Amino acid sequence: MDLFKPMDNKGTKTKKENKPKEASEHVRCLILGSGPAGYTAAIYAARANMKPVMYTGMQMGGQLTTTTEVENYPGYPDGVDGTAMMNDLEKQAKRFGTDVRFGMATAADFSEKVKKVTIDDDKVISADSVILATGATAKYLGLESEEKFKGNGVSACATCDGFFFKDKVVAVVGGGDTAAEEATYLAGLCKKVYMIVRRDELRASKAMQKRVFNTKNIEILWKHQTKELKGDGVVQSVDLYKNKGEKNEEVVSVDIDGFFLAIGHTPNSAIFRDYLDMNETGYVITRPGTTKTNVPGVFASGDLQDNVYRQAVTAAGTGCMAALDAERYLGELE
Ligand code: NDP
Repeated sequence: MDLFKPMDNKGTKTKKENKPKEASEHVRCLILGSGPAGYTAAIYAARANMKPVMYTGMQMGGQLTTTTEVENYPGYPDGVDGTAMMNDLEKQAKRFGTDVRFGMATAADFSEKVKKVTIDDDKVISADSVILATGATAKYLGLESEEKFKGNGVSACATCDGFFFKDKVVAVVGGGDTAAEEATYLAGLCKKVYMIVRRDELRASKAMQKRVFNTKNIEILWKHQTKELKGDGVVQSVDLYKNKGEKNEEVVSVDIDGFFLAIGHTPNSAIFRDYLDMNETGYVITRPGTTKTNVPGVFASGDLQDNVYRQAVTAAGTGCMAALDAERYLGELE
C-alpha cells in the first residue's frame, strides 16, 4: 500500500529532525490512511461523534485501488471493482461527517499526551488520539516489464487475483511463508504453479514446505531469478536466469499466464519508529486482542500491524476496533 511511502533506514529522519513544529490545528481523532482500515475507523469514529479528520496518504483508497475486482469481501455477491468499493467507503465515512483530506504524514511526535503529526512536511496537526492505518507496500522486483504488466498478469496478491487464472499456468516468486501459502492457494485453482526460488532452499516454515512439496501441480524452479516478463498486452512467458553468477548460468523461458510476487511487504511505519514498538521488519506491535500500541492514545490497524492475514476484511475489522479503542481512550481522558 503506497499510502505513506516507506522510508528505508537511510531515508528515515532522526528523532530530532522528525519533531514537528507547533500545531496549527487540534483534533480529537486523527486517522492516517484511507484503505479499508482507515475508512472503517472513520465510519465508527464519526458515528461516535469523535469528529475524525483523515489524511488519505498519496494513494487514496490504498492497495485495493490497484486491483481490479474484489470478490472475497462479504456483501458483494457479484464482486466489486476495488476502486468503486473504496469510493463507497469514502462516501460512507463522509456521510457521518469525517473530514477527509488529501495529504501525507511525513513526521510524527508521540512523546507527549497530545500527539503531533506533520502533513506534507508543512502543516502540523495535534490530536488527542491517533489511529494509524498506513498499510504496507508489497515488494516488487523493480523490473520494467513487471511495471508494464501490472494488472495484466502481474499481481502481488494471490487471494485477490488468483481466481482470474483458474485452470491456467502461473508463477510465484519467493520462497518464504507468503510464497508457499500463495503457491498452495493457487495450486487449488490453477493447472500448474511454478515457484521461482533464488536459492536452493525455501525460507518458509517446515510445515509450509511440506505442503508445497506434497502438492502435485507445484514445480519449484530452484536457483532461478526473474530476468524479464514477456507478452503481447498480457503476460505470456517469463525469462529466468538459472544458476545466476555460476559457470553454468543460462537463461530459460517458461510459458505462464500469471506472475505473482511474494517476496515480502514493507509496512509503512518508518515515521513512527522512534515511538512505537515494532517487530524486526517494522510491523507495529499491538497489545493482543486490541489495537493499542505502547503509546497511550495511538492505535494501529490494518496491514501496518498485520503480517499474517492482510485481507481487506481483516483490515476493516481492526479499523473498527481502533475506533472503539480510541473512543474509550477519549472517554477516559474527559
Ligand atoms: P520473507 O521475507 O519471509 O520471504 C521472502 C522470500 O522472498 C524469501 O524466500 C526471499 O528469498 C525471497 N526474495 C526476497 N527478495 C527477492 C528478490 N529480489 N528476488 C527473488 N526472491 C526474493 O517474506 P514473507 O512475506 O514470506 O513473510 C514475512 C513474514 O510473515 C515471515 O515472518 C513469515 O513467517 C510471516 N508469514 C506468516 C504466515 C503464517 O504464519 N501463516 C503467512 C505469511 C507470512 P531468500 O530466502 O533467498 O532471502
